[in-house]
Amino acid sequence: MAADAFSKTWIEAREKFLAAASAAGLDVETRTNEETSGPNGEILHADLATLGDPDARNRILLISATHGVEGFCGSGCQTAFLRSTHARHVPADTCLVFLHALNPHGFAWLRRVNENNIDLNRNFIDFSADLPLNEHYETLRPTMIVKDLEEDTVRTASRAMVTFGKAHGFGTLQEGLTKGQYVDAEGLYYGGTGPSWSNRLLREVLTNRMKSAERAIQIDFHTGLGPYGYGEIISEYDKDDPAFARAKAWLGEDVTSTRVGDSSSAALTGTTDHAFHQELGDIEGVSIALEFGTISSDDVFDATRADNWLHLNGNLASPQGRQVKADIRAAFYPDEDQWKEKVWARGEEVILRAMNALES
Ligand SMILES: [Zn+2]
Repeated sequence: MAADAFSKTWIEAREKFLAAASAAGLDVETRTNEETSGPNGEILHADLATLGDPDARNRILLISATHGVEGFCGSGCQTAFLRSTHARHVPADTCLVFLHALNPHGFAWLRRVNENNIDLNRNFIDFSADLPLNEHYETLRPTMIVKDLEEDTVRTASRAMVTFGKAHGFGTLQEGLTKGQYVDAEGLYYGGTGPSWSNRLLREVLTNRMKSAERAIQIDFHTGLGPYGYGEIISEYDKDDPAFARAKAWLGEDVTSTRVGDSSSAALTGTTDHAFHQELGDIEGVSIALEFGTISSDDVFDATRADNWLHLNGNLASPQGRQVKADIRAAFYPDEDQWKEKVWARGEEVILRAMNALES
């Protein structure tokens, strides 16, 4: 049963991944994030393994836990793949690179963000240039940063958000909230002021394990947007970008784009897609996020806002703190067999599409 490949904690997820990699005969390289530690003092690791010929012309990179707490999903798919018969039938001249727990801090602490409150999927910008602007951030900040989690406070913040949405459009609201901001280190969707540990790690992996490929696909697993258990294949290509046509040809007509406007996600700044194309240059490549729905987007947002409040002001060990952590875990990881089975069925489908596309 595929649900068995999913875990209850980062530690268990890592153990399952390492065991599956070992059973598949893979060497694992570990990278330790010495800038931080886990909630119980754990040393935090990301792990790397390559299945198939490491010098293959065709390469697929599978990333889990870019948004820490979303790592239950990606890790489950990585482990399920390594345990499956597909792992024994990788086509010639193809390899799959597994990057497990790119943001181990967020995974272990049950947070989207990293050790510096950075949203890693907004951190891949060019920090030598002007930082991207988010013109609505200051207006929307009070709807995201609340003084407490009392019902009245949260209701008032949410009402202000709806008022903004009615005035400016709900697309503008979603973009203003989520596209990324580079001015407020205590805020949500904060992109940082320099490359984070995980940023440097992904760039290292792209350079060392992907760059000499001829054709490459990056699949970054996420959760929290869209219908329950459905995996949307989200790209960030403009309509006329040849890579958008390539993404559809390789991965299917159901590939969406945040730039075209048919995605559940707003257009974002500084995502892993940017790292992929920056590091791999002119390679024939496609980068997507595979985004699985969980609960309603309002509930996901409420859980994210509450978690930000908790880590700024609250006590993680209090009943309220424990409830907030339970809520954010549930928002990004419905710990239900039905959800896990749906996730793996779709994850398997998309990985096989990628393998078949590169083989043909
Ligand atoms: Zn995500």
